Amino acid sequence: MNSKHLLCYLLLIIGMTGPTAFGKHPSTSGIDEKYFLHPMICMDSKGVDCSKLKLGDSYLSTSSPARGKLYSCNPKNPSAPGSRAERITWIDFINNKWNLFEKLWLPEGNFQTPEGTYSETITENGRIIEANNVPKDSKIGDWPMNKHQILTEIDANPGVPAVKSLNFLFAKQPVWSDSPSCLSLGAIGITNNGIVLYSAADARGNDALAHEIVDIYGGHPARDEYHYHFIPERLDVQRLETGHSGVVGWILDGFPIHGYYGIGGKEMTNKDLDECHGHQHGSIGYHYHATMEYPYTVGCYRGKIQQITSKNFDQRRLAGDDPPRNNSGVNRLNVIADQLGVNVEELRRAVGSPPPDFKRAARMLKIDEEQLRRIFKKYR
Ligand SMILES: [Zn+2]
Ligand SMILES: [Zn+2]
Repeated sequence: MNSKHLLCYLLLIIGMTGPTAFGKHPSTSGIDEKYFLHPMICMDSKGVDCSKLKLGDSYLSTSSPARGKLYSCNPKNPSAPGSRAERITWIDFINNKWNLFEKLWLPEGNFQTPEGTYSETITENGRIIEANNVPKDSKIGDWPMNKHQILTEIDANPGVPAVKSLNFLFAKQPVWSDSPSCLSLGAIGITNNGIVLYSAADARGNDALAHEIVDIYGGHPARDEYHYHFIPERLDVQRLETGHSGVVGWILDGFPIHGYYGIGGKEMTNKDLDECHGHQHGSIGYHYHATMEYPYTVGCYRGKIQQITSKNFDQRRLAGDDPPRNNSGVNRLNVIADQLGVNVEELRRAVGSPPPDFKRAARMLKIDEEQLRRIFKKYR
C-alpha cells in the first residue's frame, strides 16, 4: 500500500468511527470542531451508545433508590437557574435521549489557574484529602464562558473557577448500610485530581451533563467552585491486574469510586451495578463505578455517612454530609441560595431580617420548611 492509499484508508476509518458516522444534527453543522468532544470510551461499539444516551431528567427519585436512578434528597425545582432548554440541539426531549457527539463543550483557551494540589493522608481518624479546587493536571476550559457567545446563549453561567482550600475527611472503614441514603445537591465526593464531584443532577434536578455547558475537560464552576458531574475519562488511567479500573475518587460515605471498566476491562453499565451504582467483588470490596450512563457516578450512598472528628480539623470544615464549605468568604446566603436553586435576592426578602422566618420563606419560595431549616443549619 503506498502512502496515498494509506492516507485514504485512514481517512476512511476516521470517517467510519468519527461523529459523522452518527449523523450530525443540521443545526450543529458548520460549528467549529473545537466545541465538540469525542471521548475514546464512546468510539467503539461496546458499552453504551453515546449518540443515544438516556436523558436523566425523569430518573430522579426522592422516595427510594432504584437502579439507573438518582436517589436525591432534593425534589426537582424547575424555577432554579440553568440552561435554556429551547436552545439545546443535542437533547431529544420526546424520546428522552441525548447525543454526546452533538453536545457543545467549552474549549481550552487562555484561562489558566495556579497549580492544582491534591494530598491524601491516612490517619487513625480517617482519610484526609486536601485540595485547592483547581485540577492537579491544570486541564481546564476557557472560563468565564462569555468569550463564546454560542455557549452563553445556551447557558449563561457567569462562574469563574478560583483557588480555595478544600478539606475532606473520609471514614477509613466505611460502614455498610442496608437502607442507602439520598444525595444532596453539592459535593458527593472528590476526584483524585482535586476536583469536587457533584451528583448527576443540576439545581433543577435535571441531568446536569446533558443540560449544562461544561468544558472539554469535564468541569464547570458554580460561582468559583469548579466541579464534575461525571468522571472525565482522562482520570481513568490506572488498571488493576484484572484489567479493572483503579480508584478515581472518594465518595462521602468513605467508599471509593473506580473508573469505567470492570474485570477483564469490560465497560460498566447500570446493568452491572446495584441501585447505588456500585458492586463488590474480590479483594476490592464495595466500590462505585463511573459509567457513561446516567447517573454517571453514584445513585445513592451505600455506606453510612459518618460524622468523624479529628484533632487536626475544625469540625465545621469537615465534609461529612455537607458540601465543602466555602472558605473564601463568599456570602453565606449566596451559598444557601445556590444550594436551594433560588435567587439570592428572593431568598433575602423571604427570610427577612434575622432571625430567619422559615415558615414564611418556605411559603414564598415554595420550598419544604424542613429542608430550608436543614440547609440554614448546615451553613450556620
Ligand atoms: Zn454543576
Ligand atoms: Zn468493579
